[in-house]
Amino acid sequence: MQNDDASARFLDISPYVARPANLQAPLSGDVHADVAIIGGGYTGLSTALALHDAGISAVVIERDFCGYGASGRNAGHLTPTICKDLPTAMMLFGRETAAKLARYADFCVESTEHMIRNYGIDCDYNQSGNIMSVIHAAQEKRLRAATEAAVALGAKMHFVEPGEMRERGMPRTFLCGAMEEAGGTLHTGKFVLGLREAALARGIRIYEQSAVEHIEERKPMRIITAGGTVTADRLVMATNAYSGEIGRPGDRISPLYITLFETAPLSEDQLEAIGGWKGREGIYTAHESMESYRLTAQRTIIGGSKDVQYFYDCAPYNHGGESDARKMSVIRAFRDRFPALGDLPVSHAWAGWCGFTLNFMPLVGSASDNPNYYYAIGFNGHGVAQATTMGTLMADLILRKPNPWHEIVCRKPAFTPPKPLRYLTIKALLAALNGLDRRIDRKANAITFGR
Ligand SMILES: Cc1cc2nc3c(=O)[nH]c(=O)nc-3n(C[C@H](O)[C@H](O)[C@H](O)COP(=O)(O)OP(=O)(O)OC[C@H]3O[C@@H](n4cnc5c(N)ncnc54)[C@H](O)[C@@H]3O)c2cc1C
Repeated sequence: MQNDDASARFLDISPYVARPANLQAPLSGDVHADVAIIGGGYTGLSTALALHDAGISAVVIERDFCGYGASGRNAGHLTPTICKDLPTAMMLFGRETAAKLARYADFCVESTEHMIRNYGIDCDYNQSGNIMSVIHAAQEKRLRAATEAAVALGAKMHFVEPGEMRERGMPRTFLCGAMEEAGGTLHTGKFVLGLREAALARGIRIYEQSAVEHIEERKPMRIITAGGTVTADRLVMATNAYSGEIGRPGDRISPLYITLFETAPLSEDQLEAIGGWKGREGIYTAHESMESYRLTAQRTIIGGSKDVQYFYDCAPYNHGGESDARKMSVIRAFRDRFPALGDLPVSHAWAGWCGFTLNFMPLVGSASDNPNYYYAIGFNGHGVAQATTMGTLMADLILRKPNPWHEIVCRKPAFTPPKPLRYLTIKALLAALNGLDRRIDRKANAITFGR
């Protein structure tokens, strides 16, 4: 840990997005639309675009600006990871469903790549794949078995042996790993703002600075903000981790607070010192609560995700701001993984909210007692591909158009215990996982630093 790590700035949102110059006016008066979409992240914007293509008028109502949530803050790994991983999916849902989920996850990556091309979004997309990497030999056996199981289910993966890791120039701390061949990394701000611009260019009405305060579930539905109301035949909840503050099924989402950081750009010598990292493959570690690292097009390293936070009230807007303990924890892990970059400054850190569910699957569908109330929330940290793909799925759901993926994605929600019990369960689970990770870290540090 460097002495000046503590001075790394903690950003309000992220380095990727700022309030756009063409910030859209807040909702005022009473507006009508076929479909009202609440939330302007990947889910809300892709749904608005898909509905527009189908000739349906949709409006997006966004509390701040489109991209303010996780879609403008995430680490930018476009991955076919689904559920916790495929072995977990097999355990929870059986082999047949896990195999379908593997195909769906690949489809999500392809469909996101298609959107990048289709809307001409320049978002530094690097189709490099992502490698779940071993930092200590104790992680290897389980990862090999998980990779074999995933490949047997049809996942496009292979185990990257140490020799291939070195040929690729992967940073030396990462010994071997499981490569998800589909996907890569992208600039999340350019991507979400590109979707926003695509929506605006098509004349889709977006109301920013418009927090939904209340939903009246009648026919038609009324979505109420401080300045105005949207009357709509159908509603889509696309508010992910924030859903619990607005409406159902938000009470089934557990918002987790995750911190990331970005370093200063690496010099040629520094790149050389860590191995070259020629392909800029995304990395996550084989920890239980994984760390992630990527080398950006600007040659900075973005990383984080360690030691996530969970709060009893499940209300993101009650929290946030500076979070020094988390910042130092993610930077400490980075210093451990990249000893050769000893004095590389960390420029800034930031945090965002991920929506988690207890079976690691998103909640997608419509309310059983109100078929006009739709939702697509809870992407469990894999939303770059999955939330972006939601647009076509939601549009087909609303249009009652058959879509082969509905069967696999519109699932019965996992049992969610009431708050006190859920809080205790999640806190206990996080503590147990962090404990396992700390053991691995101690072993790895004993080898790297002799401590
Ligand atoms: C730090 C971090 C790192 C991550 N890294 C990755 C990664 O590398 N790869 C990956 O696949 N996924 C990652 N994720 C997850 C991914 O970012 C999300 O799954 C995805 O962005 C979800 O998109 P969304 O549109 O559903 O939600 P969001 O982008 O959160 O959008 C929800 C929107 O709803 C708005 N809203 C909230 N309340 C209201 C209201 N009352 N009225 C109106 N609007 C409201 C919010 O302002 C927000 O813009 C990460 C997430 C975080 C936080």
